[in-house]
Amino acid sequence: MVTTTMDILGKALRMLKDKPLCDSCLGRQFAFLGYRMENRDRGKAIKDLLAMEGHRLALQRDSEGLRILRILAENGGSSIASEILRKLGQAVGERRRCFLCEGLFEELSSLVDKAVKLLSEYEYDTFLVGIRIPVEIEEREDEFRAKYEIEYGESMRNELSRVIGKMIREITGKKADYMKPEIVILINPFTEEVEIQSNSLYIMGRYRKLVRGIPQSKWLCGRCRGRGCQFCNWTGKKYPESVEELIANPILEMTLGEDSSFHGAGREDIDARMLGSGRPFIIEIKRPKRRKLDLSEVERVINERARGKIEVSDLKFVDRRAVVKIKDMEATQKIYRVIVEFEREIGDDEIERLRELLTDITVHQRTPRRVLHRRADLIREKHIYETNIKRISPNRIEMIIRCQGGLYVKELVTGDEGRTDPSVSKIIGAEARPLELDVLEVLDKTEEK
Ligand SMILES: [Zn+2]
Ligand SMILES: [Zn+2]
Repeated sequence: MVTTTMDILGKALRMLKDKPLCDSCLGRQFAFLGYRMENRDRGKAIKDLLAMEGHRLALQRDSEGLRILRILAENGGSSIASEILRKLGQAVGERRRCFLCEGLFEELSSLVDKAVKLLSEYEYDTFLVGIRIPVEIEEREDEFRAKYEIEYGESMRNELSRVIGKMIREITGKKADYMKPEIVILINPFTEEVEIQSNSLYIMGRYRKLVRGIPQSKWLCGRCRGRGCQFCNWTGKKYPESVEELIANPILEMTLGEDSSFHGAGREDIDARMLGSGRPFIIEIKRPKRRKLDLSEVERVINERARGKIEVSDLKFVDRRAVVKIKDMEATQKIYRVIVEFEREIGDDEIERLRELLTDITVHQRTPRRVLHRRADLIREKHIYETNIKRISPNRIEMIIRCQGGLYVKELVTGDEGRTDPSVSKIIGAEARPLELDVLEVLDKTEEK
């Protein structure tokens, strides 16, 4: 007899006697039995078989038969059981709402329609469905599963995510991606809240800064901290533009992104140019709606709008992991050009001595006083591979320095009151100050020799 056994049918009937369950919620308790079928199919198959058994018993005038058919009709919503009962001249009670999902699984299409409508504003190839379920609903199912010692069931969250994901896939033709989805669709099916999370778009490239006076990143006004005040002319910014904004703004317009974040392989001072083949950077566009950009067009627009100020090149799409890598590139080699002015005239022998003493040496550099407010006070060792010097006037020289990234070049010139050793000032024995500083090259690890 199915009523006493603990096989699939016996267990299913006991559960249905206890609580109303829709096809999905019944089938889900046996989700890991059988392949190539959905829980809905499992639940339906079990109910159909139980209806047949009920019919068989009823025809043998076993009262258990009618009891099974009534349970199936009222607690299982089985139309087959209802029809058998009607044909046997029996009254059929009202169908009851599913105890576990409260009827949700039969109303998924309106939820999916809502999600698809929101998704239509976005350009994407891959997505992931995230499900939020009220705690009390999850706990209710946990208790139910414990009571019936469910061994092969899956969670409602799992099933909802899979089933809704499949429905969205069928309508949109997009792919599910569990590792790096472009779009995450957060759904609370019980409140019908749907939220679209568009993951960041990352574009890597190199920038050259052709003029002095532009900071790398957006610099907030120190007085109002970005709110806007009379000192910043209500812009909220200390400087009207930055490398970050010159690159980000055109891309934000093209992607309809909401915000951006700039990651550079190190940074040059505001008064230093960045020349040569440029400094690697990654621009992160947050919550973009468009992501299929023609990067050569992006490059053209940025360079046209920032003409004479900055220039970008080598744009390519990267993923989030590249941001970590670009931070490490700070340690790669850099080539600087600095114009140095001395307090007195200097001789050719002194220039030669400077060149020799600043080639293939290690500089001990205590954190410069000017950056102490944002960096820890410690001594760094930085290598200078090579220095070349050209005289410009009796008391001015141009130095080309190839060194390890992270060397503070202005302090290499001044000595920063002894915090940097050796220094140009100390070697010459005369006060020296940097007039102009440029980064000529940021060398990739692959270019290093
Ligand atoms: Zn249900
Ligand atoms: Zn201000």
